[in-house]
Amino acid sequence: CGIFGIYSREDNVSLSTYWGLYALQHRGQESAGIAITDGAWMDVHRGMGLVSEVFRHQLPHMEGQRIAIGHVRYSTTGSSLLINTQPLMVTYSGGHIAMAHNGNLTNAQELRCTLEETGSVFQTSIDSEVIVNLIARSRKPTIEEKMMESLTKIEGAYCLVVMTEDKLIGVRDPHGFRPLCIGKTADGWVIASESCALDTVGAELIRDVAPGEMVVVDEAGLHSYGFAENDAQALCIFEYIYFARPDSIIDGQSVYQARLEMGRQLARESGYKADIVISVPDSGTTAALGFSREAGIPFAEGLMKNRYIGRTFIQPEQKKRDLGVRIKLNAVRSVVEGKSIIMVDDSIVRGTTSGKIVHMLKEAGATAVHMCISSPPIAYPCYYGIDTAVRKELIAATKQVDEIRDYIGADSLHYLSLEGLYRSVANIKYDNMCYACFNSKYPASTPCESHCGSNK
Ligand code: 5GP
Ligand code: SF4
Ligand code: MG
Repeated sequence: CGIFGIYSREDNVSLSTYWGLYALQHRGQESAGIAITDGAWMDVHRGMGLVSEVFRHQLPHMEGQRIAIGHVRYSTTGSSLLINTQPLMVTYSGGHIAMAHNGNLTNAQELRCTLEETGSVFQTSIDSEVIVNLIARSRKPTIEEKMMESLTKIEGAYCLVVMTEDKLIGVRDPHGFRPLCIGKTADGWVIASESCALDTVGAELIRDVAPGEMVVVDEAGLHSYGFAENDAQALCIFEYIYFARPDSIIDGQSVYQARLEMGRQLARESGYKADIVISVPDSGTTAALGFSREAGIPFAEGLMKNRYIGRTFIQPEQKKRDLGVRIKLNAVRSVVEGKSIIMVDDSIVRGTTSGKIVHMLKEAGATAVHMCISSPPIAYPCYYGIDTAVRKELIAATKQVDEIRDYIGADSLHYLSLEGLYRSVANIKYDNMCYACFNSKYPASTPCESHCGSNK
């Protein structure tokens, strides 16, 4: 998911949030929503589809609006339904709260059971609603304390933007799994999943929210609170491999430079030679460029992507994904015919994309297709907010590399080593990243460990 929040004295905060979400569209395409407040009232508008579709006819509007938050959703828990769209908004004794969440709680079921036993009623099936409930039920006097108390109870991955009538709050979990950064505009503050959204609304990147930090923006400015002991950071390395936009900077590391280096590492590790290097656009392109430069093999555009289509993977159902590949990509015969090809992509999850593309290239006359992947085999599921499928669907959970090569019909297949991968993310220490989907070393609890009786 992608989240965005803005506090501004004069701006049209609703419109800025719209553009911010537009820049974060790659983080989720199922639904979008914006909540705004003028200091007394709060309103929210949510819908299924892309940002441009949900707000085609109107943006939420209020005279004197000052704060807005927004969300684009990509479902990990809770199905893809209107009821599960965000921001969530509740009214309680203390006023209104709206919240948008990126991540995945690992003890949501357990907490939900406890809350239900003591009278809470849930309207959605998303884990984020648990957090709103905890905040609304807290007996602490201030919103800051209510938040802090609630945050000590939840586990897993979460970045939050929360809005009250007069405050904008940003939170990053103690492991810092997902990115969250702070920007400054001429008359206010922005909090967003990625810095590309700050650029879009003309905000200057000030810094990232630290793991275990809560920042509160009000009339007096920005305040920082620490709500957790210093756990080692476990930033999701998949943000660099695939998820984030290459023009974003996360925790001081340029996503673009990391991808370029992954490609260079792939060239060195694989030693593959061919006539041309091509990418699976768009997510494989930067790594393919790195490969081409390192190996001294020309980069060529062997596959064209229909630019009006979204990310195929983010379609929740397999049927849509199968059709999606053919609608999305096509081989450029004049480029690939009679050529041996190195094809670079960021990841293989189920193998749907790769198999179809190799077939497409061979049909268009490629003499050989050597596939290079800028991540190690994904053999374990993610519980922290990226939908890398359940284990039985992951092709690398049951097949060895040579079996996968045969399955997708490639002439060779090389996956970037874990070492090659973390070396590419030069500005972040090895110990400060999560690689659990590659090596099963989960840095935080997993749902199985903390499940409640009624929901096994
Ligand atoms: P597959 O077809 O092997 O199931 O999926 C791999 C392809 O899906 C890659 O081209 C990758 O760029 C794309 N993709 C889209 N969304 C995701 C995601 O959330 N995670 C991963 N790992 N790959 C994704
Ligand atoms: Fe990221 Fe993989 Fe860790 Fe999930 S398991 S947070 S996708 S590195
Ligand atoms: Mg891709």
